[in-house]
Amino acid sequence: MLEELSALKAAALTELTQAASPAELETIRVKTLGKKGSLTQILRGLGQMNEADRTTLGAQANAFNEEFALTLTRRMEALKQQELTQRLTREWVDVTLPGRPRSPGTLHPVTRAQNEIIHLFTAMGFPPASGPEVESDWYNFEALNIPPDHPAREMHDTFYLPPAPDGRKRLLRTHTSPVQIRVMEGKQPPLRAIAPGKVFRCDSDITHTPMFHQVEGFLVDEGVHFGQLKGLLEAFLVQFFERPLPVRFRPSFFPFTEPSAEVDMGCLFCEGQGCRICKRTGWLEVLGCGLIHPNVLAHVGIDRERYTGFAFGMGVERLAMLKYGISDMRALFDNDIRFLDRHA
Ligand SMILES: [Zn+2]
Repeated sequence: MLEELSALKAAALTELTQAASPAELETIRVKTLGKKGSLTQILRGLGQMNEADRTTLGAQANAFNEEFALTLTRRMEALKQQELTQRLTREWVDVTLPGRPRSPGTLHPVTRAQNEIIHLFTAMGFPPASGPEVESDWYNFEALNIPPDHPAREMHDTFYLPPAPDGRKRLLRTHTSPVQIRVMEGKQPPLRAIAPGKVFRCDSDITHTPMFHQVEGFLVDEGVHFGQLKGLLEAFLVQFFERPLPVRFRPSFFPFTEPSAEVDMGCLFCEGQGCRICKRTGWLEVLGCGLIHPNVLAHVGIDRERYTGFAFGMGVERLAMLKYGISDMRALFDNDIRFLDRHA
């Protein structure tokens, strides 16, 4: 019996030291000390022994029991330590690595250019005004001296909408000039405003998109003349492009102004030498303007003998492209985050 016990003890302790997981330790414990465990079986046999043998064997069994428990605890701690070390290695994080940068949101180049234009004209005394994007034929064309069948209508590539319930023609405004009419009608000079907003034309290529932004500006008062208009627009362009620029006014035609002019500024990219962007001319066309046609003043009930006015209009995309060096207008509306990041 004693030999059996010491063989059992040697085997059990060896198994404990070799166990590779807490689960294996538990299996060995049950196998040794459980109800049907090997040590339990031996202890059960104690009752049939004589007293001397029982004392000896009992003492040995107790010693085994204690050593087993101690070994089990130590092995369990060793395994837990090992597991912790492994986890620390596996889940190691280098806290000195730089974080992943998140690019902050920025305003779209068109929004920035438009805000800048509004800011500059507001500073020069022109309050912002707005009007609807769905317009009637009257505000978009007729009040602006473009009657039905006027050839200028063909240049506008208009999106027409189903007529209003009262039968009036409806369309998406092709320019921001209708706001000029809306601000002037029913009021008397002095009047002035700038009107930024979306306009729509059925056109799409490298320099045209079906929706784009314009800023319209106008002023009506007694004694308004072309020299004031020139001074205002020159001051605006120099401030917007943040550099001294040659500016020239070229005679042109718009139905709602007389006289009318296109405004060119010296090419920003070649300093007037001639390049691809200015089509070798050294000049970039940036604005249209003129003195408000007397017919337009008459349409809104302003005395055309007493008052004169000037008006100007500009494409925001065009100015944004020149200011930020963007060559394809469609890139402004592709929503490609890489493009937007580059022009942030
Ligand atoms: Zn050029």
